[in-house]
Amino acid sequence: MKLQLQSITKWMGIEKPLIISGPCSAETEAQMVSTAKQIAATGKVHALRAGIWKPRTRPGQYEGAGEEGLKWLIAAKKETGLPVTTEVATAAHVEACLKAGVDILWVGARTTVNPFSVQEVADALKGVDIPVMVKNPVNPDLELWIGALERLNRAGITTMAAIHRGFSSFEKGPFRNAPMWDMSIELKTRIPDLEIICDPSHISGDRNLIAMVSQKALDLDMSGLMIESHINPDAAWSDAKQQVTPTALSKIIDGLVVRQVSSENKSFKDTLSVLRDQIDSLDDEIFQKLASRMKISEKIGQYKKENNVTILQVNRWEEIIKSRVIMGIAMGLDEGFTRDVLRLIHHESIQVQTKVMNKDEVKV
Ligand code: PEP
Ligand code: MN
Repeated sequence: MKLQLQSITKWMGIEKPLIISGPCSAETEAQMVSTAKQIAATGKVHALRAGIWKPRTRPGQYEGAGEEGLKWLIAAKKETGLPVTTEVATAAHVEACLKAGVDILWVGARTTVNPFSVQEVADALKGVDIPVMVKNPVNPDLELWIGALERLNRAGITTMAAIHRGFSSFEKGPFRNAPMWDMSIELKTRIPDLEIICDPSHISGDRNLIAMVSQKALDLDMSGLMIESHINPDAAWSDAKQQVTPTALSKIIDGLVVRQVSSENKSFKDTLSVLRDQIDSLDDEIFQKLASRMKISEKIGQYKKENNVTILQVNRWEEIIKSRVIMGIAMGLDEGFTRDVLRLIHHESIQVQTKVMNKDEVKV
């Protein structure tokens, strides 16, 4: 299904990157409003965020202020003149937000994983004209992410954005949620009109990594950033380690370099087109060589069949990997990349040979 999309940055009437900031959770009216005022005073933020209903991993943690908190969010909107956004996970959340006057909604990572919940939110939004942002699911499943966007789109929501907030992983790395940038690159390739906003706070889980992750997101041509900010981060009731003060937020934004996707500069264009031509012809060669290689695999398959030999010969394969990896490294290629390419080639070669092996012989 092709999505019908409107740009969220156009809807807001701003230039990229769109900056959304605010506390992880609305805790009290004073915390919400004073944080919002300081954020607005930076002059660098286009919308305010705050969690009102918090999906917490364990019970007993702060689960949000609920509807009472919506009043504080609206008070922050009135004080600052900035549009506000919050997370919705049920039809009741949607109704409460629409009644209160929330400007933009988002679907959280723990909701995107569940098609029942996403459908409930979508149904509650039928006939409503409001922008909705969809966070990636907790697990790296692109179809689930796209599925959530489709459910909302079918309900008539067209001003949409995706939020890349990283993926939960068993292996503990430097990030709270592994960025797996390829997921967003693939999403952008599949749906080029969809704007993607990065949430460096939930990727990082640590305020010291936010600037670096934000820059990486902009370098990947993402359309905006959602960064958690709190007047007193260490005392925050949720996600304390990853929140920054409005002053620190302002510094992070100042430090970002916004690069152009392309440049009007003539020599840049000429150089780029020469380099692109080179890439085109190299790709051509690579695929021709791969096709010739597969033709030989086919012949080998035929030969093995005639001589009743198994397709897979582990020793030969080990030898190939060893020698090619050494060769790849000597040529300056990454070892992991070389192994990945070999694995794919080998897989296809086995498929080709299996086809030959199983082809019925024509009996005369
Ligand atoms: C949040 O934005 O505070 C939040 C709960 O995020 P996520 O859905 O990405 O976990
Ligand atoms: Mn949070």
